[in-house]
Amino acid sequence: MGYSDYMLMEADDHHSRHVAPASDKSVPIDWMPVPPRAELVRVRDYTCDCRETVYELCQAGGVRFIRRIKQGDRAPVVEECPTGRAHDIDNLWAQLLSGVAR
Ligand SMILES: [Zn+2]
Repeated sequence: MGYSDYMLMEADDHHSRHVAPASDKSVPIDWMPVPPRAELVRVRDYTCDCRETVYELCQAGGVRFIRRIKQGDRAPVVEECPTGRAHDIDNLWAQLLSGVAR
């Protein structure tokens, strides 16, 4: 998909945020299986579900993290980045959206 297509889709009201394309220089995020968690998970931000992979910025108790949901023909595969402080994970979220981290 070209840059112009990306801009067009961003302008469409039916779409929410899309992540920018990753590159060779993107910092790899250490995605791991979702751990058992007693706290309620609140989704603070999310990317558009028109894409095969959807990301969610989550808060559970005192920790924040990002979830990656890979949608497919079978059950979705859900993984998380290591939890961290709100400030650090918000920065990582911004890097993910801009393609700096993936
Ligand atoms: Zn979309």
